[in-house]
Amino acid sequence: MSRVYNFSAGPAVLPEEVLKEAQSDLLDYKGCGMSVMEMSHRSRVFDDIIKEAEKDFRTLVGVPDNYKVLFLQGGGTLQFAQIPMNLMKNRAADYIITGNWAKKAYQEAKIYGDAQAIASSEDKNFTYIPDCSDLPVRPEADYVYICENNTIYGTEYHKLPNTKGKVLVADVSSNFLSRPIDVEKYGLFFGGIQKNVGPAGMVITVIREDLITDDPLPGTPTLMKYKTQADKGSLYNTPNCWAIYICGLVFKWLLGMGGLEEMDRRNRKKAALLYDYLDQSKLFKGTVRKEDRSLMNVPFVTGDKDLDAEFVAEAEKAGLVNIKGHRTVGGMRASIYNAMPYEGVAALVTFMEDFEKKHLK
Ligand SMILES: *Cc1c(COP(=O)(O)O)cnc(C)c1O
Repeated sequence: MSRVYNFSAGPAVLPEEVLKEAQSDLLDYKGCGMSVMEMSHRSRVFDDIIKEAEKDFRTLVGVPDNYKVLFLQGGGTLQFAQIPMNLMKNRAADYIITGNWAKKAYQEAKIYGDAQAIASSEDKNFTYIPDCSDLPVRPEADYVYICENNTIYGTEYHKLPNTKGKVLVADVSSNFLSRPIDVEKYGLFFGGIQKNVGPAGMVITVIREDLITDDPLPGTPTLMKYKTQADKGSLYNTPNCWAIYICGLVFKWLLGMGGLEEMDRRNRKKAALLYDYLDQSKLFKGTVRKEDRSLMNVPFVTGDKDLDAEFVAEAEKAGLVNIKGHRTVGGMRASIYNAMPYEGVAALVTFMEDFEKKHLK
């Protein structure tokens, strides 16, 4: 067996310790003679798994008692619809467009009401985060929506927008659990877990209780009402049991290393290694404005398409895989999520230095 350094943007690398634990539990989870994939979601054993996962998540993130933590299906994408269905009381919401994911959420919200883009960085191919200190937030807006880390473009909000008192809704899929956050600044945040937390196919939504309504927009399916899942502890229907179990292991892994502050310290150290190299490289360039750089997704280019392709191919041979950039940016993108060890980033930087030497003669 040999593991590569996997820089995939998602589904992405998981901690090796977690994979090994899942492996050792696979045939017989804690003496019950079956795997977590095979047991009833109504069983005592699974009830312990989901309750423990929620408890550990709350400890890790510091979720106050007046927020619900929901384990939902449909990924990040279904939240693009579920949010307006449940939160758009006035049928108005303001969106900040910082990339494809924010744009998709905005377009989806238009199905349900008057969604408006109140700021955008599309003029420069989403290479920066717009100034959000004095936005034209509308009085009737039910919420202000952001995508906090832009997986494709490699930008991240390092300061939350001034929503002028409106509820802040955030997609945190690709910086989920990468650093401490102040939950009370958000009305709702959600993360598709396959970027930085677990396997694909689930989203964790954290929502303030007063936003959970009995009367979402007419026509909202039962399963799409946050109230349905909040009342049933995310067990209204059969949940993604396996993903919940893996998330639980990842939460314990994070708690064991010292929680989100320690994770933040490690992530900053990893990102600094790569960005410091990029800043002095004569071959490679980062593609986004410095102060808006993501600590999770690092896009870079040589400026020569053929050379980019050669780099991606050579890197793969060296065990540094999934480093090709998204088609809308081109070049390369290294996703350096929580589970990417420092050694992986160091190996990448060493490889880039060698490649640079070879090609800058
Ligand atoms: C990947 C991603 C999504 C979509 O997630 P799915 O689980 O595929 O629906 C949404 N938002 C962001 C920021 C993402 O990176």
